[in-house]
Amino acid sequence: MTSEEPNLMEKIVSLCKRRGFVFPGSEIYGGLAGIYDYGPLGVELRHNIKQYFWRKFISERDDVYGMSAAILMPARVWEASGHTEMFTDPLVECKICHERVRADQPEAISDHEARHKKEKVEWTDPVRFNLLVETRLGASEKSKIDANLRGEITQGVHVNFKNILDSMHPKLPFGIGQIGKAFRNEITPRDFLFRQREFEQMEVQFYIKPDGDEGKRQFEYWKNLSYEWYLGLGFKKENLRFRQHAQDERAHYAKDAWDIEYNSPFAGWKEAWGIHHRGDWDLKRHSEYSKVDLTYFDEETGERYFPWDIECSGGVDRAVLFVLLEAYTEDELGGEKRVYLKLAKHIAPVPVAVFPLLKNKPELMSKAKEVYAMIKREIPQAVFDDNGNIGKRYRRQDEIGTPYCVTIDFETLENNTVTVRDRDSGEQKRVSIEDLVGVLR
Ligand code: ATP
Repeated sequence: MTSEEPNLMEKIVSLCKRRGFVFPGSEIYGGLAGIYDYGPLGVELRHNIKQYFWRKFISERDDVYGMSAAILMPARVWEASGHTEMFTDPLVECKICHERVRADQPEAISDHEARHKKEKVEWTDPVRFNLLVETRLGASEKSKIDANLRGEITQGVHVNFKNILDSMHPKLPFGIGQIGKAFRNEITPRDFLFRQREFEQMEVQFYIKPDGDEGKRQFEYWKNLSYEWYLGLGFKKENLRFRQHAQDERAHYAKDAWDIEYNSPFAGWKEAWGIHHRGDWDLKRHSEYSKVDLTYFDEETGERYFPWDIECSGGVDRAVLFVLLEAYTEDELGGEKRVYLKLAKHIAPVPVAVFPLLKNKPELMSKAKEVYAMIKREIPQAVFDDNGNIGKRYRRQDEIGTPYCVTIDFETLENNTVTVRDRDSGEQKRVSIEDLVGVLR
């Protein structure tokens, strides 16, 4: 899809709800702004994206370790990382209705002004609003301590830097990656999964020698790897681009920062993923605040130093949303209009659906069940469907992006072949049952 489709976002939101991808959070209680729940198909799609990240950035590599840090961290962590002081967005308040909006989001401002059709909206001066979500932990009022739901998953890695050194004994350069939830008290959560208050991130912190040339080389490497990975989710090249942050736009820790942006149909180019040169900011600050030495001992040179960190950081939910926007296609097949998701095959929530041509023929049903059981052993997310006529079943699968449909018909009973239908072209090929799993793979 391209950016000329203004209603696409509404179509995606409605498809997500109707077909079990994503629901508004706690909907029967009226929902909660910026919070969403994933349904059966959405959770598979999100899982496949995360698996693809884990494989490419962690398991396939010998120089990156995986880990999973806790969501709750003491407030002191965020003082050290600079978030208590600097993790803020500018907030303005409408003087008519007192609703608060992010001052640097022109869409949020103009949407709000449009709501007060007849009145001229006046805004308060902007104030800095901290995005960290606070909580208190402990069994009595006296012993309760201040804690935060993490605002980014990054700090969970830095606070475990020494544990990884002591347990895995890695040599520089090496990385630590993880996937997990982050929480931000966003002033104006909006655009469905794009800006939520609870969301998931996937990241690698790659530690290197503190050296200018090495920094440039590694930064370039991780930038390119991130781009190739994102492209592998099924995007057209023209819908992705790099953008370098201007000096005054960079986060407090960043020596250099680039985003991969997606040409979104709802608001043009939007951040999907960031590559940040964090220098030695985090390790130095955590050493200072925790009083634990987080330097690295270089056996080759006999020196101790704080490594630099090149970070790759992507939003899982933004990837889900952008993948859906990119995949949504309306066309005509066999003289009929259809909607289908042209998802990359390796992330489709249902990789293959199996149908008997007719439900009321016991010999077709039992053969279809047999073929389904065989496929299911190898491809566990396969589904079986015998509901309604075959054309409707194809359409239902098209709408959720199932790449292949296998149909068992009368010819199957004669020669042990089935039809395999391709989602994008609608073409069907006959394949022998013996070769079927191989062909589907
Ligand atoms: P933005 O400028 O859009 O607020 P950011 O620069 O603050 O994002 P980072 O702190 O770099 O974002 O976070 C890394 C990634 O996490 C982002 O590229 C994005 O994909 C994702 N992300 C950040 N905030 C949100 C959010 N509120 N909802 C969903 N995903 C988010």
